[in-house]
Amino acid sequence: ILRVKGVSKSFGSQQVLEPITFEVGEGERICILGPSGCGKSTLLQMVAGLQRIDSGEVEMAGVTVERGRHYVPPENRPINMVFQDYALWPHMTVKQNMEYGMKRRKLDTKDRADKLERLQSLLKLEGLLDRLPAQLSGGQQQRVGIARALATEPKLLLMDEPLSNLDVKLRTDMRGELARLLGELSIASLYVTHDRMEAFTVADRILILRDGRIDQFGEPRVLFERPASPWVAQLMGYHN
Ligand code: ATP
Ligand code: MG
Repeated sequence: ILRVKGVSKSFGSQQVLEPITFEVGEGERICILGPSGCGKSTLLQMVAGLQRIDSGEVEMAGVTVERGRHYVPPENRPINMVFQDYALWPHMTVKQNMEYGMKRRKLDTKDRADKLERLQSLLKLEGLLDRLPAQLSGGQQQRVGIARALATEPKLLLMDEPLSNLDVKLRTDMRGELARLLGELSIASLYVTHDRMEAFTVADRILILRDGRIDQFGEPRVLFERPASPWVAQLMGYHN
């Protein structure tokens, strides 16, 4: 579903990402794991089309979305995203926010009602549907953001620390649920986190980013059993 080939990025004289190459299969759940400042958000934004790439090529569902001067804007890519600042429509209620994407996809009323029901229970939004975003806590807004993105059933869902505003209990509950739902809906995902346990729960494969380079990309078990470097080993929780 996604091919990233030799994509790099600098801001001024600082090279944030060295040329990066990787592929994501249909429905595959990928976590991007790495320390603060290693370039995770930048990489996600380039896949989204929110940041232009300096070099290389991005391909989605067999279509080149960026190469050289050829550039397809985010709204025309088969993606949806949940970013740290989870922007909701401030003038729409929770329910209207969730329905917005579904309407654009022209789902019929019955399907829409079913899905709304399912998402509200999954994301524990019962009783909140008629509120405006301003009347919600940060964590509740974050959950509405996830619900709205899932409702559109994109081919690829990009998430930047989507559970960061939730308390530990809710975060632990939701990461498993989220992974299951992505699996059921066959939505491929790129999921940025710096939480190793979250990556282990959510990911089919984990991409480890350090200083703008891919250190290792593989299944959680492989990373754990055969870390490619002392750094990865440390990240996997080995000590010394
Ligand atoms: P975190 O886990 O803290 O969110 P990150 O891995 O997402 O970190 P990025 O946001 O991708 O890191 O930033 C990578 C580097 O690029 C940082 O050094 C950051 O200061 C720099 N950077 C990011 N965006 C810009 C920008 N628009 N202009 C200049 N420098 C930037
Ligand atoms: Mg970030």
